[in-house]
Amino acid sequence: MRLILLGPPGAGKGTQAQRLVAQYGIVQLSTGDMLRAAVKAGTPVGRKAKDIMDAGGLVPDDVVVDIVAQRIEQPDARKGFILDGFPRTVPQAVALDRMLVQHGVALDAAIELQVDEGALIRRIESRIAEMKARGEPLRQDDNPAVLQQRLSAYRKLTEPLIAYYGQQGTLHTVNGMAPVPEVTGQIEKALDAAKPDPAVKAPGKPAGALARAADLGKKSSAGGSALPKRTAGRKAAQPKSRGGNTTPP
Ligand code: AMP
Repeated sequence: MRLILLGPPGAGKGTQAQRLVAQYGIVQLSTGDMLRAAVKAGTPVGRKAKDIMDAGGLVPDDVVVDIVAQRIEQPDARKGFILDGFPRTVPQAVALDRMLVQHGVALDAAIELQVDEGALIRRIESRIAEMKARGEPLRQDDNPAVLQQRLSAYRKLTEPLIAYYGQQGTLHTVNGMAPVPEVTGQIEKALDAAKPDPAVKAPGKPAGALARAADLGKKSSAGGSALPKRTAGRKAAQPKSRGGNTTPP
């Protein structure tokens, strides 16, 4: 199983990824975690990424693509993976498609966690205030100004991926505003509905992935709950907490 989770910061991608890891026995690959580990370890990648991350911008595509390309080569990713926070731009998505074709595998699903942005901002702001009040350490990018910047990067650079995966026919949209277990249930339903393409999955027959990329796909919505509006005035889910990617790039 190979899937990606799409959604703005704070939509609950990390929380859902952790639940799916437990459910499907595949690894969670969070580029945010990998980059934070690189920053902490002071590697060349980390030094390049630090200021950009602190300001809420996106690290250059080539840097992130290299990290992911190396990470998916590792044995624990062979059975499958959940990409959390990657791709975040169309060039990253194109690079991912190439990587998958090289490995003779395909994406099973791109899951969009659709949230209400207004509520999302309010939720994150109150979480930050509560953490501050408790004297807990905050991430450098956990502040309202940087959050606005991250949301703006999402809208401009990442949101086009919804159309990209819609065209590939792999997109499934779930209501990210629902309670956490319900969102997981919607994702599981979507994954059940995502029929694996045997031509793509058979080793040595990667062509189907590209063929599918060219197809006009349909956007499906799993589960019965109404979806929040994707445009201004959104909201959202759970604080992120992600598990592990080990060696800092
Ligand atoms: P996240 O934990 O996924 O919210 O990521 C934290 C920060 O890491 C983002 O605000 C970006 O600065 C950087 N980052 C994570 N993933 C990517 C990516 N795929 N492309 C570019 N920058 C990324």
